[in-house]
Amino acid sequence: MTGAGPPLQGSNVKIARVETVPIRQELDRPFGSAQGWTTARQYLIVRVVADDGTVGYGECWGPIAGNQQVVEQIIAPMLEGEDPCATGRLWQRVAFKLRWAYHSFSPYSALSGVDLALWDLRGKLAGEPVHRLLGGACHERVSAYATGHYFRQVDRLDEQIAIVLDEAQANLGKGFRRLKLKIGLRLLGWGADADVALIRAVRERLGDDVPIMVDANCAYDVPTALRVGRACEDLGIGWFEEPLPPADLDGYAELSRKLDVPIAGGESWALLARFAEVFQRRAVSVAQPDVCSAGGITETKRIADLAAALNIRCIPHVWGTPIAIAASLQVAATLPQEVLLEYDQSDNPIRERLATEPFRLDSDGAVAVPQRPGLGIDLDEDELERFRWDPR
Ligand SMILES: [Mg+2]
Repeated sequence: MTGAGPPLQGSNVKIARVETVPIRQELDRPFGSAQGWTTARQYLIVRVVADDGTVGYGECWGPIAGNQQVVEQIIAPMLEGEDPCATGRLWQRVAFKLRWAYHSFSPYSALSGVDLALWDLRGKLAGEPVHRLLGGACHERVSAYATGHYFRQVDRLDEQIAIVLDEAQANLGKGFRRLKLKIGLRLLGWGADADVALIRAVRERLGDDVPIMVDANCAYDVPTALRVGRACEDLGIGWFEEPLPPADLDGYAELSRKLDVPIAGGESWALLARFAEVFQRRAVSVAQPDVCSAGGITETKRIADLAAALNIRCIPHVWGTPIAIAASLQVAATLPQEVLLEYDQSDNPIRERLATEPFRLDSDGAVAVPQRPGLGIDLDEDELERFRWDPR
C-alpha cells in the first residue's frame, strides 16, 4: 500500500501515566472453599491515562502485594510516552521484561491488569467496544451461571447443605438458569462423601433440568477425584472443575480419559504456552483462563482461539469487579463456541458498586455484551475512592 491516508483517530495520543488504586472491603461474614476462608475482597485497579485525558481501567488478579509494586516500578515507566493502541507490542515488551526480571516468579497478574486498561483505553480512543477490535462479536448476549454456594462456619453437614440449598433456590429466583457448587468440604473436616452428599441434595432439590457444575478448588488426589467424578456422572453434572492441584497435568489427563463428566480448569494457569501444553495432553474439556491473571485480554483471546481450533470449550473464569466481568464478556463475545459468563454471587460490595450501572440478567438468564467503547462500562470514581485502601 502507498500513501499515508488520513490520520487514524487517536493515532497521535500517547500514554501520559499509569496509576494504581488498591481497593479493599472487609466482609461481614467470611465464606470458604476447599482452599480456605475469604474474609475480604481486594483488588489492584490500574488506570492508564492518555495525554488527551482518556482513561482506561484494568484489574489485577490476586493480592495487592506484589502487583502494585510491579505495575508502578516496572511496567509504568515502560509505557509512558508509548502508543496506547499498540496493545500487542506493549504486551510482548512487558511479558519479556517480567520473564527476564523475575524468572519463575513472573507476576503475570500485573501484566494482565495493565493489558485490560490498555484495551479499555484503545477502545475508547477508537470509539469501539473491545469485541469489535478483536474481530467482532459472535454473541450479543452471554448466558450466565451463578457461582457461589460457598461454605460457612457450621458444625454439621446438614446445616451446610441447608445453606447451599437456600442459596441455590435464591439464585434461581434471581433468574439464573445454571449454577455452580463448591465442593471440597475437607475445609470443615469432612471427606469426599460429604461432597457427594451435598451435590446429591442439590440435584434432588432442583430436579434434573437445572444444569449444575461443581468446583473442587484443587481438593483431591486422582483416586478421590475419580470417585467423586463417577458420582458427578451419575448426577448429571455439567463439569467437574479443578479436581486436582494445577501442577498435576498427568492427573488431569487421566481423569479426562476415564470420566465422562467434562473436566474443567484454567484459573490457576497463565499464558498461551501453558494452555497449549494442557490442550496437547487433553487434560481438560473446558478451559477457564481468567483475563485478570492469564495474561490479559491479549493472551486470553489467543488461548480461547487455540481452544476453539482444537474443539475445546473456553469459558473464562471470573471472580472480580465489573472490570473483570466486562473484559470477560468482551472476549467471550468473540468466540465461535457456546460460551457462558461466570457470574459470582458471593458477598462482594465492590462488584455491586464500582460500576455506575450494574450488570443485569435478562429473562433468559443472560447478560448483554457491553456495546459502548472500550470495556463498555463506566466506573464510579467516588466509589473507587471510597474503597481505596492503603496497604502500607
Ligand atoms: Mg474455580
